[in-house]
Amino acid sequence: MQPESSPHSNSQTDSTLHRLFAAMSDLVFVIDRQGVYTQVISSNNKILPPGTRVGASLEDILPTTMAALHLAAIQRVLENQRTIEIEYCLPIAEQQVCYGAKVSPLEVDQVIWVARDITARKRTENELRQAKEEADAANRARSAFLANMSHELRTPLNAVIGYSELLQDESREWGYDHIIDDLLRISEQGRHLLALVNDILEICRLESGNTLLYLEQVNITDLVKQVVGMIQSQLRDNDNQFELECESDLGLMFSDANKVKQNLLNLLKNACKFTHRGQIKLTVTKSDRLNGTILFTVSDTGIGISPEQLAKLFQPFVQVDSSTKRRYGGTGLGLAITKKFCQMLGGDITVESTLGKGSKFLMYLPIRSLDPRDQTRPA
Ligand code: ADP
Repeated sequence: MQPESSPHSNSQTDSTLHRLFAAMSDLVFVIDRQGVYTQVISSNNKILPPGTRVGASLEDILPTTMAALHLAAIQRVLENQRTIEIEYCLPIAEQQVCYGAKVSPLEVDQVIWVARDITARKRTENELRQAKEEADAANRARSAFLANMSHELRTPLNAVIGYSELLQDESREWGYDHIIDDLLRISEQGRHLLALVNDILEICRLESGNTLLYLEQVNITDLVKQVVGMIQSQLRDNDNQFELECESDLGLMFSDANKVKQNLLNLLKNACKFTHRGQIKLTVTKSDRLNGTILFTVSDTGIGISPEQLAKLFQPFVQVDSSTKRRYGGTGLGLAITKKFCQMLGGDITVESTLGKGSKFLMYLPIRSLDPRDQTRPA
């Protein structure tokens, strides 16, 4: 299509401008307040809605809703005397063509409408959005599947553990002592499998954003004593010495007691597992850092962790060292969960370790955690 113009634009300047606009990839129209085209500047390689010509009105050319949208934009520009930007798509030659347009006021109740074909960009955006939606849906489906599976696995597992313990008691009563070791192994392995399933369930919940915080006032010293009490026997295993050092006036923290307990248990269990004939120490101190922080330090004189292993220690599903796993068992998920819990509570965990000498895990937790669902109102 050749540049077309109203009879009023014959001057030299106008024709230069027409040539300039025609050379650009944009479509340029001048439209009056009633929606009638007074100038149409286009070129052969640009797609125009059929019937677009000087003298035609928006209502003749565009679908009703689109014509109304255009007219409203024109009114707005003329009233405010300001440029606006709009995006719209039109059905042209059996395809959707999308435009990004700048509409600016001209004198005598007209606007200049400069439209750029953004179909390719829109298509890419749509494809990206669709790909993201599909990935999100797949992620949700995977999490839901794993959560369901974990649930289905836990019920029979609890039955296996429960019945094997019942049989141990009955065997003792009836004098079948020779099978007690085998039954013990069943319950031990069952517990191990249950711990694994629980960790997988927890990681899935964390990754799909379904983990909730239950914040309450927690007496820190009581919590620490409870945790130590829960693993009393493991702390003395492997001929290890255990020491607890708690500041005297720790007081209360506003936090999720179960998550803090689970974190401490995991750190202490690891220290017990990887230390032989050594020392394990739990220190709890309060600091004024970041409006009040409680620092839990779990240190041991165990096998230690190499610098390469340290780099991937808190990543889920990454076992630090398969030979360690074979020797000591474990899921490789514990520290990933611990780190995520710390972050949810507004804290963090770091580690210092020397291979062959021991490790030190430092868990910082705020005295007052915030519920992420209620960030605006401090609890
Ligand atoms: P798990 O202990 O169940 O395998 P974790 O995520 O708790 O999973 O620990 C991951 C790995 O980090 C362990 O397998 C071990 O190699 C290393 N690790 C953790 N704590 C210690 C520790 N106190 N001393 C030495 N290595 C440790």
